[in-house]
Amino acid sequence: MCGIVGYVGEHNPKDVLIDGLKKLEYRGYDSSGIALRSNETVQVIKSTGRISDLEEKINNTKLINSNLGIAHTRWATHGEANEINAHPHKVGRVTLVHNGIIENATELKNTLVNEGIVFRSETDTEVAAAVINKCYDGNPIKTITEAIKLLKGSYAFGIIFENSDKLYAVRKDSPLIVGISDTEKYIASDITAIVKYTNKYVLLEDNEIAELSTKDAKFYKNGEEIEKKIEQSTTKIEDANKGSYKHFMLKEIMEEPLVLQRTLNKYINNMDKIFDVSKYEEIHIVACGSALYAGMIGKYLFEEKANIRCITECASEYRYNKVIYDRKTLVIIVSQSGETADTIAAMRKAHEEGIDTLAIVNVKTSTIAREAKHTMFIEAGPEIAVATTKAYLLQVAMFSLLALKAANIKGLENNYEEVIKEARRLPNLVKKVLNDHDKFEEVGKELLDAKDAFYIGRGIDFAICKEGSLKLKEVSYVHSDAYEAGELKHGTISLIEDNIPVFAVITNEKIKDKTESNVIEVESRQARVYTITNDGSITNHHYKYVVEKISDYFQPILVVPPLQLIGYYTANERNLDIDKPRNLAKSVTVE
Ligand code: GLU
Repeated sequence: MCGIVGYVGEHNPKDVLIDGLKKLEYRGYDSSGIALRSNETVQVIKSTGRISDLEEKINNTKLINSNLGIAHTRWATHGEANEINAHPHKVGRVTLVHNGIIENATELKNTLVNEGIVFRSETDTEVAAAVINKCYDGNPIKTITEAIKLLKGSYAFGIIFENSDKLYAVRKDSPLIVGISDTEKYIASDITAIVKYTNKYVLLEDNEIAELSTKDAKFYKNGEEIEKKIEQSTTKIEDANKGSYKHFMLKEIMEEPLVLQRTLNKYINNMDKIFDVSKYEEIHIVACGSALYAGMIGKYLFEEKANIRCITECASEYRYNKVIYDRKTLVIIVSQSGETADTIAAMRKAHEEGIDTLAIVNVKTSTIAREAKHTMFIEAGPEIAVATTKAYLLQVAMFSLLALKAANIKGLENNYEEVIKEARRLPNLVKKVLNDHDKFEEVGKELLDAKDAFYIGRGIDFAICKEGSLKLKEVSYVHSDAYEAGELKHGTISLIEDNIPVFAVITNEKIKDKTESNVIEVESRQARVYTITNDGSITNHHYKYVVEKISDYFQPILVVPPLQLIGYYTANERNLDIDKPRNLAKSVTVE
């Protein structure tokens, strides 16, 4: 989590840093700060709240003349979100911004306190700064090389040494790139922060150190200089801006037809690019949050269509639970950012057991993309809103394609060509659903005073409900839960009361009637039922939205956008900070 940006070049860094922080705010937003250096002086300005609060403070402060600076937007892991704990942290001659967790911070801190160091903050970051300062011998590369040997955990550091006019960076298990232009060098947690200035970048690998000056970018590992390749990013400035949309979340939902088209074209026109899962006897889908719910849809499709046994488990459990690998198993890991800490750990656990991994990931330069044995990239482009929408939808599409290919190879799919034809229609079908946004806005209005909501469905519809419910709660703060429709009367039905909203997803032909009976049960208890279905003949409930009936492989792709928009509009009615919900951050790079 957290966003880092740094600059060294011919200009004052202030604007680049503020602009970069605004682009990275989705990664963490409880407090922020910048440090500027000039002639052996380092000026630090910090603030709680949003980047706009920091900006105001900076605009009211007399800044030193500088051409070197670092900045940070925080998602607190150690110590509350106050100004003292905000980054940058300065200890002696070292000023630091940090993304990650120093796992041995307490131990190191005890030693340093015994040596007389006084700490101001509660953060692990200040401890890292103190360690680097202790190692400092006038040679920054040697200093950082020695210091990182003492640190356990994850870090991306941007570092300024008081008496050096260069910018330093190093990372381990947290993302960091170096942006390159002729007279300016940057560091950033991701390219969107600096794409306005350059699209050339170098990807830092674990424990590689960057030494940057206006003209030069040098890289070191274990104290030796190394060559690094300069890459070119395809990210565009428009990707990092909201355009005419009120929120990134709405923009990203409305981009779904486009990104679906891009992703489906890539794979449908070349089915060889789709990984063959048919040779495995068991699949484990491991992910967190929405990516896990996309995986749940995958589970139903793999089992129903391709006859492959499949389990899904959240990565934070999978990494520590005993996992029995007694069949030919494939572990599929799903992560938009490719930097989700628990998912990375789960992937590495599978690798240690000699198990094949397939990653479904959006960010091509990410740790998961680089380490997984096989990868399938979704083409979502940058996703800025914290609540995922377009990336989730593409993850679902990937599972549809994987299951379709496997079923076809196993001779279990007689309508293969028809299904492929249908896949080509998907972007337009989704567009049609999105054109009905007014109808979902109406629901958002009706939910203005709702405190609780329930989502019910069976089979694949239940998996869809999990995501619908998550979308609502994460952006609108309405307490909401998803239940297997038949499970409700085993306890939860006691919560159903007059006028409570219940969303029913009913697309699954086989068990449609069963879910309908559950709907009648809650309606009999005065619930207000909103049904999303592909069957126009379903008895009218309080509200009904009917999507076109298409192949089971792709049906979820039409049902999810209404649920995403209902979450969005509910939050919008409440005037909430939709792109940055409280306590959340995108790209959960800590455990
Ligand atoms: N562990 C550090 C802190 O709590 C960094 C957190 C982050 O990545 O934002 O300040």
